Amino acid sequence: MAGFETLLDRIVDNMPGKDVADPDRVDEYCPPDLPKTTFQAAVRGLFGRCPSCGKGRMFPRLLKPVEICPTCGQDWTAQQADDFPAYVAIIMTGHILAPVIIFMINETDFSMWTNLAIIIILGLILLGSLLQPAKGAIIAMQWWMGLHGFEKPPRPPLAGTSDNVQDHR
Ligand SMILES: [Zn+2]
Repeated sequence: MAGFETLLDRIVDNMPGKDVADPDRVDEYCPPDLPKTTFQAAVRGLFGRCPSCGKGRMFPRLLKPVEICPTCGQDWTAQQADDFPAYVAIIMTGHILAPVIIFMINETDFSMWTNLAIIIILGLILLGSLLQPAKGAIIAMQWWMGLHGFEKPPRPPLAGTSDNVQDHR
């Protein structure tokens, strides 16, 4: 597989437009403001911002992340969130809705159909609004931990300590 990946890299490197993601060129106009912790990276993704710089928009469309961050040039094509954002969104929707459902059944006099309609509409709204933040946070963590095709980003030095730098480049 290593040979195949090298070949792929070579093809991708020679594609037009690829030079935008060249780290040497990117540093010329916008040094990436890297997050300091996993949490910070995840929060940036959660709010739909590029985890690398915190400025560029991560999702120009609802669930499709940008290929290259327009601000810092970080390449996001290596992300493989797959179904995981959906699992996270479903689990969270269930936990948020469960007490609401219990309250509605026990404390209100709505008919079964009214209850069902409210529960389905609430569930769809919750699920829809949780999917993109979940996907952003998951992609951010994949990138920060160097999973899949991501190259693990260098860790900024911790305040006051110069020997805690873990540069993996
Ligand atoms: Zn960026």
